[in-house]
Amino acid sequence: MMPKVYADNAATTKLDREAFEIMRLYMLEEYGNASQPYSFARAPKRALQEARAIIAQCINALPGEIYFTSGGTESDNWAIKGVACGWPRKSQIITSKIEHHAVLRSCAFLEQNGYAITYLPATRQAIIENGVLVDKISSATRLVSVMTANNEVGSIQPIRELVKTAHANGALFHTDAVQAVGHINVDVRDSDVDLLSASAHKFNGPKGIGFLYIKTGIDIKPCHHGGAQEDGMRAGTENIANILGMAIALRNNCRQLEKNIDKLKGIEEAFLSALNNAKVDYILNGSEQRIPGNISISIRNADGEMLLHRLDLMGITVSTGAACDSKETRVSHVLNAMGVPEEYVRGTIRVSFGKDNCIDDALFVADSLKKILVAK
Ligand code: PLP
Repeated sequence: MMPKVYADNAATTKLDREAFEIMRLYMLEEYGNASQPYSFARAPKRALQEARAIIAQCINALPGEIYFTSGGTESDNWAIKGVACGWPRKSQIITSKIEHHAVLRSCAFLEQNGYAITYLPATRQAIIENGVLVDKISSATRLVSVMTANNEVGSIQPIRELVKTAHANGALFHTDAVQAVGHINVDVRDSDVDLLSASAHKFNGPKGIGFLYIKTGIDIKPCHHGGAQEDGMRAGTENIANILGMAIALRNNCRQLEKNIDKLKGIEEAFLSALNNAKVDYILNGSEQRIPGNISISIRNADGEMLLHRLDLMGITVSTGAACDSKETRVSHVLNAMGVPEEYVRGTIRVSFGKDNCIDDALFVADSLKKILVAK
């Protein structure tokens, strides 16, 4: 059933209409295998090239630096394991305590296999400061992996500064930009990252498709073995419909980036002022530089899970934390790492508005929240 207000866009987004139309064409008519030599493969082959060029342009990369994957999880796994497997096992990888589980569990897997993993602490605003990286990095560090923006609280990290520190110490830099691509300006030349993960369903593209940006010349091994697709780096018949759908969705979001950011800032302001006017006792989580529309609030002495279900009954979809954590009732690793005070932390919900929301949606969510808290 469609909710009255969908406000969980950090978990997933609605598919872009133009992306859907083009996907239909490549699923029902131009469904040939792009690797075949006959003429029926020509259109899918062209579509593959076109999609790679569009995506490259959106993040200021070269088309040959874009590799299609099944999404953010695969891109993170590949980036971390694919660069690590060429090294001696005592090498060090540095990541942070607030990464998505796709990064944390890839690192944990390598740790079990002899690699040294260091987890950087975050500030109260969920920022990984350059100083903490400077303290931990050494000549044994081969890779630093820090996300561009956090999925639970939206904080945007000082990536350019962190990359400089990594490079000055001879380490590669990977960033999980799943929450950032298509929402804020992401420029791989400007940030100088070596590897970047993205996922289409977070920017109005289809689910089950993403990409890994690999800077030219980076030594990374394939994780999927089989056919010669993706320049021999990622085997498996290409899902042309998904790939092209992802490219169109990203292009459309990037074309409207400033407009969407302005709109979401307005929605966010309306939501927070309505909460303030209702005298709700809450903490706004995250830093000042956040992904527009991604609002994590911790309400004093409330129960986030109860709020989620009560809002659901009122036709509103929000989240209590990371989508992948929704079955677990314990406090998320991100909120723990940030040190959200005890009396607030269990009352945390994430309201993530998207480009299809409006101010009235924000006011409806705030008013419904107020009603639940008053009736408690
Ligand atoms: N990284 C971050 C920051 C995410 O928010 C997510 C999804 O929630 C992922 C990785 C995993 O992406 P996917 O769902 O495409 O596997």
